[in-house]
Amino acid sequence: MKLSSICITLFFFLSSVLFSQPDKELEKIKEAAPNSPSAKPKKKRQILVYSKPSGFKHSSIPTGVKGLRVLSEKTQAFDATFTIETKEFSTEGLKKYDAIIFNNTTHVQKAFTEKSQRDAILNFIKNGKAFIGFHAASDGGMPQWQEYTDMIGGCFDGHPWNAGGKWPFFIEDIKHPVNQAFQEDEFMFSDEIYQYKSYDRSKLRILIGLDSVKTDKKGKSKTNDYPVSWVRSYGKGRVFYTNFGHNKATWWTPFMLQHFLDGIQWALGDIKGPSKSIPQTRNLN
Ligand SMILES: [Zn+2]
Repeated sequence: MKLSSICITLFFFLSSVLFSQPDKELEKIKEAAPNSPSAKPKKKRQILVYSKPSGFKHSSIPTGVKGLRVLSEKTQAFDATFTIETKEFSTEGLKKYDAIIFNNTTHVQKAFTEKSQRDAILNFIKNGKAFIGFHAASDGGMPQWQEYTDMIGGCFDGHPWNAGGKWPFFIEDIKHPVNQAFQEDEFMFSDEIYQYKSYDRSKLRILIGLDSVKTDKKGKSKTNDYPVSWVRSYGKGRVFYTNFGHNKATWWTPFMLQHFLDGIQWALGDIKGPSKSIPQTRNLN
């Protein structure tokens, strides 16, 4: 056999081996995801998941898609439709959905520029539906789309706590059903943690906070208030946002997937739990 033929044979052999590799990320997510919903859905829930960044592109976006697909298929808590297009975000297009998820969608103000689309999204939630945002869903909005920032609860204002670090968190609302994944009132975790502008604690119920004074980084908050996961009411609808989801590994961490599922089911109205604001308890000056 000539050398060139050997090379070609070898190339095809290696390609077939490479392409037949199982998706190890997907396997880890399937293993980590809860087996069942935390509450039986009152009806078949439909969620539209939008995953297109218009600013910084997180490499964990496809991991988030896999995570949400596995949560949908394994627990049957909801059906998910995945898109990177904006055309279904109209009053008519959103009618068949119960919730919108923004998966690491930086700079949404550039994706949704028409007033009619912006109104369709916000009115969808105000009229009783749900919105769930992961990580960079809060990196956008203001000043061009202030109402979006007002809805989600805050706008990215830098991340003193980088993705490579391991940070201390505390549960601000230990009894909340969206926090049932957490057995202790403190935990350490590695992810990229934001500080926020246009954030008003009195409008949100903070579920998890960053215990910033235990870290060697100093953020801008005068009261050391660095919210990480929260829920809120918005008109007749509900919003769940979590800062977690920058790192791919977040998406195959069992307690995180449980927290995400519970946040989604709370926003859908299948899990009941309060949304009224609670005061800050830790690290007050
Ligand atoms: Zn990030």
